[in-house]
Amino acid sequence: MTRSGELFERALTVTPGGVNSPVRAFKSVGGTPVFVARGQGAELFDVDGNGYVDYVQSWGAHLFGHAREEIVSAVASAARGGTSFGAPTEPEVRLAERIVDAVPGVEKVRLVNSGTEACMSAVRLARGITGRAAVVKFEGCYHGHSDALLARAGSGVATLGLPDSPGVTGAATKDTIVVPYNDLELARAAFERREEEIACVIAEPVAANMGVVPPVPGFLEGLRVLCDDAGALLIFDEVITGFRLARGGAQELLGIAPDLTTLGKVMGGGMPCAAFGGTADLMDHLAPEGSVYQAGTLSGNPVAVAAGLAALELVDTLNPYAALSDRAAAFCRDLSALASEKGIQHSVNRVESLFSLFFGESEIVDFESADRAGHDEYARFFHSMLDRGVYLPPSGYEAWFMGTEHGEAEIERTLEAASEAISRL
Ligand code: PLP
Repeated sequence: MTRSGELFERALTVTPGGVNSPVRAFKSVGGTPVFVARGQGAELFDVDGNGYVDYVQSWGAHLFGHAREEIVSAVASAARGGTSFGAPTEPEVRLAERIVDAVPGVEKVRLVNSGTEACMSAVRLARGITGRAAVVKFEGCYHGHSDALLARAGSGVATLGLPDSPGVTGAATKDTIVVPYNDLELARAAFERREEEIACVIAEPVAANMGVVPPVPGFLEGLRVLCDDAGALLIFDEVITGFRLARGGAQELLGIAPDLTTLGKVMGGGMPCAAFGGTADLMDHLAPEGSVYQAGTLSGNPVAVAAGLAALELVDTLNPYAALSDRAAAFCRDLSALASEKGIQHSVNRVESLFSLFFGESEIVDFESADRAGHDEYARFFHSMLDRGVYLPPSGYEAWFMGTEHGEAEIERTLEAASEAISRL
């Protein structure tokens, strides 16, 4: 048995499913998860000594690869000064200033520990400000695991949200309205039915949790108008897209300003650091300035903030976006050509450096089409790639993350592996 196999068996006896977050368990692709020993740049190394070109990059937390020297030394140096104070620090101010400078819709920002917290708090703020209860979310968009947002409901029509998980009560999702992504008409229908009750619309401006699904032209613009007309707030969940698609996130790339923005992943440099922000008048409704309560013992933690500051410093010094987008475009073209040569029906959805390969379906525009894609083929492809030293997301519903450390050598290795893996599908 491999060392990963041994560790998984041990883990299964002390941790539910052997993992601390479900998708790590390889349930949707089968097999035993790889236990990671360390990472460097674009590569991961497992406990059995195998190396992989990594397209998970901690689910998008790394834009500059694993163990980036600037981030590691910032973390080490911050930790030596103390790991938590529960009192304000100068680096928190500097991180907030950097975010405000970069993200068009953000004038004030509150730091939290995870994307889940950011989204949960943004929704509470929207409800507190508007005095309304209902939240519109989109099928296949993930906003963390807080109760009200853990609802996907049926497809086809805008319906009342039904909880996705036991333990999430009907009461918690009663005010969650779920609409198919990219379906402005059904979003409009939801507003027509419950306009007075809708506090906010929360959307991934580029969906990346059903695989990558770009917004169709007019969709986000239409949401902006619906919210404005109804006095509801538009929340962009930029936990994945923030500092990844552009310095100012999807809102800068697409030119649409939300009222509130949630951030995480890249802005934390691989540490638990996330944020939500918006215009000053909205954010000032938060305690202690206003009455909407939100708090956290470890929020603005000095070690996490140091990692975030180092990551955002790299964003500004390297300005990696144009080069990264070109590299991802070329890679996606080559990957798609390999599949076409072998007569494999597929599609690649890409926005800048964020992309997914789907088998079977030719057009993936929402959760229903993403769900129809060939997930068994993806599982076979995933394992073939893993055997050949490429670590892809262990689920066909996820984005692939390319960063600055995926250079020519890594991409060549990936395409060679893909050519063999596709031949064996
Ligand atoms: N929002 C989006 C778009 C995400 O992709 C995720 C996590 O993948 C979250 C929110 C939740 O973030 P976290 O896992 O840090 O709680």
